[in-house]
Amino acid sequence: MNIEDAKHLAISTRAVHAGQEPDPSTGAIMTPVYQTSTYVQEEPCVHKGYEYSRSSNPTRTALEANLAALENGAWGLAFASGMAAIDALARALLKPGDHVVASNDLYGGTYRLFTNLFAPIGITFDFVDAGEVSAMEGAMRDETRMLFVESPTNPLLKLCDLEAASAMAHDHGALAVCDNTFATPVIQRPLERGFDLVVHSTTKYLAGHSDVVGGAVVGSDADLREQIAYVQNAAGAVPGPQDCFLTLRGTKTLFIRMLRHSENALAVAEWLEAQDIVTSVTYPGIESHPQHELACRQMDDSGGMISFILDGGEAAGRRLAASTVLFACAESLGGVESLIEHPTSMTHASVPPEERAKAGLDDGLIRLSVGIEDPGDLIRDLETALKAL
Ligand code: PLP
Repeated sequence: MNIEDAKHLAISTRAVHAGQEPDPSTGAIMTPVYQTSTYVQEEPCVHKGYEYSRSSNPTRTALEANLAALENGAWGLAFASGMAAIDALARALLKPGDHVVASNDLYGGTYRLFTNLFAPIGITFDFVDAGEVSAMEGAMRDETRMLFVESPTNPLLKLCDLEAASAMAHDHGALAVCDNTFATPVIQRPLERGFDLVVHSTTKYLAGHSDVVGGAVVGSDADLREQIAYVQNAAGAVPGPQDCFLTLRGTKTLFIRMLRHSENALAVAEWLEAQDIVTSVTYPGIESHPQHELACRQMDDSGGMISFILDGGEAAGRRLAASTVLFACAESLGGVESLIEHPTSMTHASVPPEERAKAGLDDGLIRLSVGIEDPGDLIRDLETALKAL
């Protein structure tokens, strides 16, 4: 089903059908893994739309259309990883002398890419609190070309007011880009709130089963597509067909998985909040979240990510991460299984301590990716580990 036809369908239906047709040669209902690097041409330049798999591959085409339909965009481009997707859009759209305003609470790898690979070639960055549109506006300059935010942020789960932020970026002549990895299109669709581009680490919820690394950019503007697709082909950080197949299989169940992730995370967050040993819990779905009202306004659910701090700080947090059983101590997030991690020594170790302090990233912070297991089992796992501290 093409993206246009999918537009009038609910997101759960789009997730299952968009971008997919029964295979024309066999009727196979699943898009095959077109494990091929090249395609036979009848004569030079007379072919069926595919020439070489770095440029395009039918399994990737199906995934790209599916992702576009989920985000309510006109096109999608799939990459070998989330970082490759961010790298490609930055390379395509920024040049030396340009300035970027970015959230000061970004995934550590994105911060590293911007500061270690793009800053040295003359692109300047200001990292500010994306929870405050006025702070972002204060950092805008004449040469600001892009606003880059995550919402919720990783790992502090701060929210960015998407409508206000995209309007502010456009007022200043900048493109608005949102990393929607944490929320997923089931929970929020930034393009519908004025953003120009959405980026994903499809490694996380979209693929959903911790068995593939991938990324994507989705948008509506044809010129932006052309520029980013040029880098996709020229630099070639594309996903293989097997990875596209796995991601496409993942998106089919995204809708029901996100409901369960959100339901479980709410139960865990409420339970954590009631424990004396827990000094603070951050989860957009609970009233104590400072932007709970914004969460209700722009998110259809609250997602599966929680962060919290224990009385006993870093030492207690690290002991907890080492002692849970169902919550495996690992980087990454968004898989069906629950994970626990310590951001300052794991996912965010590449962010310098002074930047972490500015963003309010406490060394005691613990991040949970709440899976789709039974919520009672998950709470008992945390309870047992907390009692043993
Ligand atoms: N964006 C966010 C919010 C992430 O959490 C991550 C990885 O953890 C990335 C981007 C990078 O994605 P990948 O690991 O697929 O390159």
